[in-house]
Amino acid sequence: MSASGLSRLLFGADPKLRRMMFYWSATAALYTVFMGLLVEVGQRGLIDRGDALGLTAYAGGGIVLSYLLVRLGARHGLAPTGAAALQAVFGITCNMWAYVITGPFRAATLMGLMVVVVFCTFALRPRQTLALTAVGLVGMGTTMWWHQLHDPAHYPPLVEAVTFAIMAGCSLAVTVLTGEASKLRARLKAQKEDLVKALDTIRILATVDELTALSNRRHMNEMLAEEERRHVHGAGSPDRETCIALLDIDFFKQINDRHGHAAGDEVLRSFAAAARAELRANDVLARWGGEEFLLMLPDTGEAAAKLVVERIRARVGRLLVDGVTEERGISFSAGLTARRGAEALADTVNRADKALYQAKSSGRDRVIVA
Ligand code: GH3
Ligand code: MG
Ligand code: MG
Repeated sequence: MSASGLSRLLFGADPKLRRMMFYWSATAALYTVFMGLLVEVGQRGLIDRGDALGLTAYAGGGIVLSYLLVRLGARHGLAPTGAAALQAVFGITCNMWAYVITGPFRAATLMGLMVVVVFCTFALRPRQTLALTAVGLVGMGTTMWWHQLHDPAHYPPLVEAVTFAIMAGCSLAVTVLTGEASKLRARLKAQKEDLVKALDTIRILATVDELTALSNRRHMNEMLAEEERRHVHGAGSPDRETCIALLDIDFFKQINDRHGHAAGDEVLRSFAAAARAELRANDVLARWGGEEFLLMLPDTGEAAAKLVVERIRARVGRLLVDGVTEERGISFSAGLTARRGAEALADTVNRADKALYQAKSSGRDRVIVA
C-alpha cells in the first residue's frame, strides 16, 4: 500500500477530519514521549516502577480511545468541540496522576496543563477554553490540597500553595492570550470571506452589463481575444467559421422621446432576453453600446449565422412592451459577416459595422451579410 493510501486508511479522506487527525497525531507524539520518559525514570528507580507503568498504560489507552473518538465521532455526528473537550479532560486527569507519582519531577509535569489549554483553542470557543482551564485548576488544586493535607512531609503546604499559585497564574494568562489569538483568527477569517464576496461582486460588475445582464463591452473584448487565440490559424472550413453580427435597434431615440427613458430601458431589457433565448450556449451576446449589440457565433457558417439573426429578428418583432409596442413594434437592423482567414476579429467587427450601416441606409429592419 502506498504512503498516501495508508494515510487515507488511518486518517480518512475528509479534509476537516484529516486536520483533526493531525492534531491527534501531534498529541499522540507528545504522550508517547511522556510515556517513554515515565518508563525510563521508573526503570532507573527515580519513581515507583508500578506507578510509572500504571500511568503509561492509562495514557496509551487514552491515545487509542481518542483516535476512535475522533474517527468514529466524526462519522456519528459528534461535534469536534465535544471530542476536543473529552480529550482535554483526559489530559487533565493524566496531569493530576502524573503530579502525584512523579516525585521530584512533579512541578515539571504541570507544563502539560498549558498544552491542554493551547490544544483547546483550536476547537473550542474562548469561553469554553476558560471553563476547561477552570476544570484543570480545580482538579490540580484538589490533588495538591489532598496531598499536603495527608502527606505534608512529601507535599509541604507552603510549597504546594506557591506551586498552585504559579500554575494558576500561568494557565489563566495562557487562556487569555490564546483566547485573544483565536478572536484575531476569527476576525481574519471573516475579513477573508468578505474579500472573497467583494471579489465576486467586482468580477460580475466588470463583466456584466447592469441593465440587460448581458456581457459588457469589456468582457466581449476579452471573449474576442480568446476566440482569436483559439483559432490562431483562422477558420478551418466554411461551417466552422467565427461569425460576428452587430445589431442596432431601429429608431430607439424615438422610443425614448415618446415614451420616456424608463420605457427605453424596458425595451433594451426585453430585446436582450428575446435575443438570448434564440442563442446556443457557445454564442456570446454583449451590449456593445447604448442600443447596439455584438453577437459572436463561434464555429458557425455564414448561412447558419444569418438564420440565427433572422430568428432573433422574428422574435424581437413579436415583443410586447407595455406602452411602447401598441404604437409600433420593435425592430433592429444587423450587419453580419464571417471572419476571413486569420484576420484580426477587430477587422471582422468593422466589416459587420459597415454592413449594419448599409442595413440602416437601405430601410432598416433587415440583416445584411458582408
Ligand atoms: P437608428 O435607427 O438609426 O439606429 O436610430 P436610433 O434612434 O436608434 O439611434 P440613435 O443613435 O440616434 O439613438 C440611440 C439612442 O439610444 C440615443 C440614446 O439616448 C439612447 N440610449 C443609449 N443608451 C441608453 C440606455 O441605457 N437607456 C435608454 N433608455 N436609452 C439609451
Ligand atoms: Mg439605433
Ligand atoms: Mg446606435
